Amino acid sequence: MHKKTINDVDLKGKTVLVRVDFNVPLENGRITDATRISAALPTIKALSGSKLILCSHLGRPEGKRNPEESLAPCAVRLAELLGKDVPFIDDCIGDKVAAAVANMKAGDVILLENTRFYPGEESKDKEQMLAFAKELAAPAEAFVNDAFGSSHRKHASVYGVTQFLSPCVAGLLVEKEVSMLQKLYNSPQDGFIVVLGGKKVKDKIGVIKSLLPRCEKMLIGGAMTYSFFKAKGYEIGSSYCPEGSETLAQEVMDAMKDHLDKMILPQDVNMQNVAGDHSTKYAAPTAIEPGWDAQDIGPETAKMYADLVRAAKTVFWNGPMGHFEVKPFDQGTLEVAKAMGECPGFNVIGGGDSVAAVTQMHLEDKIDHVSTGGGASLEYLENGSLPGVDALDEK
Ligand code: ADP
Ligand code: MG
Repeated sequence: MHKKTINDVDLKGKTVLVRVDFNVPLENGRITDATRISAALPTIKALSGSKLILCSHLGRPEGKRNPEESLAPCAVRLAELLGKDVPFIDDCIGDKVAAAVANMKAGDVILLENTRFYPGEESKDKEQMLAFAKELAAPAEAFVNDAFGSSHRKHASVYGVTQFLSPCVAGLLVEKEVSMLQKLYNSPQDGFIVVLGGKKVKDKIGVIKSLLPRCEKMLIGGAMTYSFFKAKGYEIGSSYCPEGSETLAQEVMDAMKDHLDKMILPQDVNMQNVAGDHSTKYAAPTAIEPGWDAQDIGPETAKMYADLVRAAKTVFWNGPMGHFEVKPFDQGTLEVAKAMGECPGFNVIGGGDSVAAVTQMHLEDKIDHVSTGGGASLEYLENGSLPGVDALDEK
């Protein structure tokens, strides 16, 4: 990586602001998956000679204090994982933070309250964003970005604070994520298979445009399939296709017409009679009927995709192949996940729901890299860079 990391600077004894990604799923104040907290441990442990002020966002409080989106449970969990006290400060700027920092010794770790409780965090008004960033940076001397999942955002705690602190370096998670995605981005076209599913065509346009010319084949699945089918003039019945997204699909196909032979759409689907008895049946793309909702790729497509994935030299997968939370529409996703696990090539998964599918099958150890950031990994593969990484010190 061409950016400095915590291994390139001496932060011993320094007060360091560390942006982590503790945006964990919560149910009634309980953390249901602490993967993101665990992912920050290597950096926190490596900086055990510093005074660490950890900050993060959680959820979408949109600039207002919302107790349901407090980071307090994360301090408790982090303390358990580290085996030491992690005081929680119920603010992220101002006197409370200053007082807590004044009492810190080297080796101490504190966690601040949700940065998104202040509108400055996500503000599009640069002055407002920077004013908040300045307050956030005030008690610290140096900055470490270890929040890979937020590094595609030009937010105060990721991007803004780099204007007020020096050095600004990458944490170990950011370093690992970026080096894996860099390797993927620069993979030779030969044997590079991209699998794209999920719902929102809108979110995937950039990555389609960027990766289609770089890969050997792009396998499309998931709900976004039906935007492409509709654009091609097929009947899609009640299948998922938000208003106007067929136009987006058509625009992508027009822009990519020189590479379109590499984009593979499903050959069969599994659809449900949602207007009637809720029975399911397989159908060709041109045989979807009104009142039926196509919710998964069919068995022929699943086999074809799995064979291509298994034989690939490089695979990137984002987004489930179907409505995998509901049986039997999990089949396509499970088959692709299994093939990923069996593929000896270099394989990377990005995106919350595809990660969930692979974890559900206990295949995560068989994957070279499971990204902690869905949006961030897509944006990296779109542009080959991320604002929150670009803002760090050059090596
Ligand atoms: P990711 O988080 O992996 O990037 P998205 O957020 O874009 O993926 O979409 C994931 C969601 O799309 C899942 O909840 C999944 O059930 C749903 N989904 C995928 N295919 C279909 C389909 N054919 N019909 C309905 N929902 C689908
Ligand atoms: Mg999702």
